[in-house]
Amino acid sequence: MDPKKEKRVVVLGGGFGGVITALTLAKKKIPNLSITLVDKNEFHAYPADYYEIATAFTGNSPQEDRNDFVKLRASSAILFKDIFQDTSVVFTHGRVASVDFKARSVSLENAKKLSYDYLVIALGSSTNFMGIPHLEEYALELKSLEDALNVRASIEELFLSRPKKEIIRIVIGGGGFTGCELAGELVGYIKKLSRLHGHPSMNVECSLVEASGNLLGRSSLWVQQKALEHLRGIGIKVLLNTPIADISASEVLLKDGRKLPYSLLVWTAGIQPNLIAQSLPSTVAQKKSYLAVDETLRLKSHKNIYAIGDIAWCDDVSGTDRVPATAYMAISEGEHVAENIARRERGGEESVYKPPTPKYVIPLGGKYVLADLGGLRFSGGLAWILKRLVALRYFAKILPWPRAWALWKGDMKLYTQNDE
Ligand SMILES: Cc1cc2nc3c(=O)[nH]c(=O)nc-3n(C[C@H](O)[C@H](O)[C@H](O)COP(=O)(O)OP(=O)(O)OC[C@H]3O[C@@H](n4cnc5c(N)ncnc54)[C@H](O)[C@@H]3O)c2cc1C
Repeated sequence: MDPKKEKRVVVLGGGFGGVITALTLAKKKIPNLSITLVDKNEFHAYPADYYEIATAFTGNSPQEDRNDFVKLRASSAILFKDIFQDTSVVFTHGRVASVDFKARSVSLENAKKLSYDYLVIALGSSTNFMGIPHLEEYALELKSLEDALNVRASIEELFLSRPKKEIIRIVIGGGGFTGCELAGELVGYIKKLSRLHGHPSMNVECSLVEASGNLLGRSSLWVQQKALEHLRGIGIKVLLNTPIADISASEVLLKDGRKLPYSLLVWTAGIQPNLIAQSLPSTVAQKKSYLAVDETLRLKSHKNIYAIGDIAWCDDVSGTDRVPATAYMAISEGEHVAENIARRERGGEESVYKPPTPKYVIPLGGKYVLADLGGLRFSGGLAWILKRLVALRYFAKILPWPRAWALWKGDMKLYTQNDE
């Protein structure tokens, strides 16, 4: 290849992994290297706050709620044009339809085609309904910003439409991070809605149903026990070892034969890699339908293609599982891929990726947060401050400081209105 010819890096997906890859690479200012990022949305989402959006109480009238809706949406949707202003990254809006590995090109649904020399696949994941019959039909998801707004609107709708004597039953399927975070924050939201709509709070029940024997499966025993204690303590009915067999329009049918009536069911358990992974040629190495990467984060089968974040199978330190599907890991992988592309362009060797020790900061309602930073564990208000500082640090990484600060301050105001 002509050494002076421009090389093209195309990043598919502008989530945590994709945005950090593009920004890190752009900062390296490598001559003759163009960087294009493609996303189906015009904004970068911040899922770590979806539980806040799904339970954000503003106390406003339905008319004013329209403004709240706009504010809530903006709180977790950061426009790519703001992220990439003053950088060399070009944003292309479009949904990826297919990748032609032979021709080294990506086709978008809007008929655009993008050629690449390096491809970074960071298309994330979708909800895994785990083959449970009728689940997809009856349950709400909490995987996108729209889902979060939908959960919030559906809960409020229950309070508006159900007779005061009726028991409102909210069932959350899955005791992972998303399920526990939502359950914890629901308590404050329900109290406020009960007061606003005159629906006795004793007539509202919230259950968290988990198939395994523990909440927060991949975290430490300390986190699992603390979370269980705390959620039960604030009134969440936690059902462990309770796999779901089927769903009807009004009941969750459990494998042990019991039936759990529900007014609203939110499914938060499990993810699967973006379905694009399945549409790639059979030559692409996969593990449990994730894109299998080598120790430099390249696809095992294609040396100019990297996969990172939720769509990739990157072995964890034990070598028996993949690294946890978290923003923390996607960011770390994105930084590593940017470094490796830069090394290749400078004629150097790629470096081996060593996954960092997972760190967890898990909000469980109001200002109660559990933090497990590897060697250091603490809970309560201090961990809540840490959680908000993690968000600020991230916003400052992807936005100019005044914008990052304004976004963070606005979010703080919006999200703390349930906290008593
Ligand atoms: C409710 C919730 C709460 C979470 N909380 C935390 C937390 O507190 N801490 C934490 O570390 N992790 C958290 N996670 C996990 C974390 O969000 C993911 O692990 C992380 O987003 C993965 O990053 P990614 O870059 O692989 O994918 P994503 O961030 O999901 O990004 C994928 C991108 O690809 C785009 N895309 C998808 N399909 C197409 C297509 N066909 N064409 C074009 N674009 C496409 C999407 O629009 C998206 O921008 C949470 C997840 C959820 C759902």
